[in-house]
Amino acid sequence: MVDVGYQPGPDQTPYQDMNQGLQRLREEELEAVPASCMGDDMEELRRHINGCEAEFTRRLRRFDKGGGYAATTALTAKAWLRWKCNFSPSNAADRVAVSRELDSLPQATEAFADGDFSYQHAAMIARTAEKLGDKMEANAETILVTAAKELDLSRLHIVTVKLRHVIDPDSVLDDANKSHELRFLSLSQTLDGVFYLNGRLDSVGGAILQTALNALSGPPALDDERTPKQRRADALVELARRQLDGGQLPEVGGQKPHLVVTADMATLSKQPGSAAAELEWAQPIPAETARRIACDCSLTPVFQGAESHQVAAGRTSRVIPPAMRRALVARDKGCRFPGCDRPPAWTDGHHLKHWADGGPTLPWNLALLCGRHHNRVHEEGWRLAWGSDGELIAEPP
Ligand SMILES: [Zn+2]
Ligand SMILES: [Zn+2]
Repeated sequence: MVDVGYQPGPDQTPYQDMNQGLQRLREEELEAVPASCMGDDMEELRRHINGCEAEFTRRLRRFDKGGGYAATTALTAKAWLRWKCNFSPSNAADRVAVSRELDSLPQATEAFADGDFSYQHAAMIARTAEKLGDKMEANAETILVTAAKELDLSRLHIVTVKLRHVIDPDSVLDDANKSHELRFLSLSQTLDGVFYLNGRLDSVGGAILQTALNALSGPPALDDERTPKQRRADALVELARRQLDGGQLPEVGGQKPHLVVTADMATLSKQPGSAAAELEWAQPIPAETARRIACDCSLTPVFQGAESHQVAAGRTSRVIPPAMRRALVARDKGCRFPGCDRPPAWTDGHHLKHWADGGPTLPWNLALLCGRHHNRVHEEGWRLAWGSDGELIAEPP
C-alpha cells in the first residue's frame, strides 16, 4: 500500500484535498514498484471509489429532496443527472431511486459510506428493500449488508432472492412469472441460408437447455479445436438431431418429423454437372453434405429423377439394419476416427465407399463416426481406410 504521507492544507476544500491525494498517486512511477503491491493499492482505491459513490448518492438525495435542480432549467433530478453527469435515462432513474430508498436503510448507507461495497451492491439492497416494502425489517437489512460486504453481485442476488422468498414468497413467484412471460425464441434465415438464433429463456428453461447442452458437449477432447461457442452450437444441433432420430417427437401431417433431403442419384454420386441437393427449410446444399446426410439413413433421403424407382426399390439395403448396427457398436465401441472417444449413441454409420458409388452396406465398408468426424470426412475431404492392424487410418485432404 502506498503511503501518500499527505496532510491537507488548512484552507483547502475537500475536493482540492482529494485532487492532491490523487495527483500524488498519479505521479508515482509504477515500474519502480513491485507488481504484487498493486493488489493492496487497488483494494484501497476501490474503498475510496465506493465511498465517493456513497457520498455522491447522499448529495443526490439532498439535491432531489430539496429540489436543487429547480435552480437550473432541469425539471427533475433525473433530467439533471442526464444533462450534467451524462447518465443514460435508465441509469439516471436508477440513481435517483436508489438514493431515495437508501434514506430508510441506515445500515446499508453507513457500510456504503465506509466503502465496504460498490454502488451496484447498494443498488441491489435498495431494490430488494423496495420490493419488500413494509415487510423489510432491520434484521433483513443486517443480512443483506453482511452479504454485500462478502459477496460478488451474482451471489448477492441469490441471497436477495432467498431472503425475499422467506419474507414474501408471493413476490418471488410474481417475478418468476413476469420473467416467464418475456420468453421468446426467434430463428431467422438470411439470404445466404444461414440461420440466426436469438432468444430469452426464464431461469428454469435456461437451466434445462444448459444441462442438456453440457451433457452433449462433455469436456473437450485434446484435439478439439472448436471454440466454446462452436461446441454449444454443435450440441444444440445434436440435441435436435437425436430427437428426430429417436422418433419420439409428435407427428406432423401424419408423419414422424424428419429431415427431408431431395437429391438426384447423379448428385449423390457426384457426377459432373449435377444439381445441388435440397434440404427442406434450408437453401440448396452441396452434394458432399447430401452424401453425408444420406450416408446413414437415420435421415430419410428422397430421390427424384429417372432413377428414383430403382432407388426406392433398393433403398432398404442402404439402411443399416438394427442387427448390423448392434454389431458395429460392439466392434467400434464409438467413433472410429483416430483419437476420438465419442460413444456409439453419438455416431452415424459411415460408408467408406459411399453407397451412391456402389459401396455395399456391409460391416467391412462401414465405420461409426461422430457428427464432427463424419463432417470432417465428407465436407472436409479426409480419407479413411482400414489399416493392416484393423485400425482406421485417416488421411488429411
Ligand atoms: Zn458418411
Ligand atoms: Zn469422432
